[in-house]
Amino acid sequence: MDCPGTDRTRNGVAMTTTSRIEWTEQTWNPVTGCTKVSPGCRHCYAEVMAHRLCSMGAPGYAGGFQVALHPQRLLQPLRRRKPTTYFVGSMSDLFHEAIPDLFLGWVMDVIRRTPRHTYQILTKRADRLPVYFANRDCPSNVWLGVSVEDRRYGLPRIDHLRRVCAGVRFLSVEPLLEDLGTLDLDGIHWVIVGGESGPKARPMRAEWVEAIQRQAKTAGAAFFFKQWGAFGSDGVRRLKKRNGRVLNGRVWDQRPSKGSEGRESQLAMQ
Ligand code: SF4
Repeated sequence: MDCPGTDRTRNGVAMTTTSRIEWTEQTWNPVTGCTKVSPGCRHCYAEVMAHRLCSMGAPGYAGGFQVALHPQRLLQPLRRRKPTTYFVGSMSDLFHEAIPDLFLGWVMDVIRRTPRHTYQILTKRADRLPVYFANRDCPSNVWLGVSVEDRRYGLPRIDHLRRVCAGVRFLSVEPLLEDLGTLDLDGIHWVIVGGESGPKARPMRAEWVEAIQRQAKTAGAAFFFKQWGAFGSDGVRRLKKRNGRVLNGRVWDQRPSKGSEGRESQLAMQ
């Protein structure tokens, strides 16, 4: 995932981490490491960060970006009393083929046991979602999402997501790499859009974003504009911070109501 946020440690045990990602609060990484599957992975932030943490000797990153299970981290959300929104697996893809169903079951069990928290799970392995949840309920406090960076790899993931009965289904359209054309947003509650950052970032055009925003509005899905990234609304390369996250004169921070299935009540302006 293209996601800032790393694990700190206390007494040698990696803790959950306050996140700089605009649409979440904390990250929880019971799994780390991944392999690339599509163009959105090219400049994977998690990969860069994992190698950095490995060179620093951080617990859990001895294998760098190789997939690793961390059962000792499973209970971390149980210890946090304050209701929190967690992004699960910011340093991996929770539905990676190397992660056994058994381990996923343990993750889901912790989620079920902590209804005070909300868990955002985002994957590019969308074809595993309907298979995994075919005979299992998706916990009601899970927001389930797929990455949609382009037409070829991204759009088919939406159909896989739609087949899962999750309280909130969302799209992370980041990094947006091309015009996505017509989107089927039926059953999708939240759409996040963002451009790529970093020295090798690929440009995102304003008309691609606006087309998605229009379709989200028509479909009744909440719209969140995360950032322009390396290229501003005028197409000029600048520091990500200078390009900011204003789209057509305002910040778009819409979020779905937690667990809402009703279209009318989904839009909650921040
Ligand atoms: S799926 Fe996510 S974590 Fe895995 S390589 Fe791609 S961007 Fe990185």
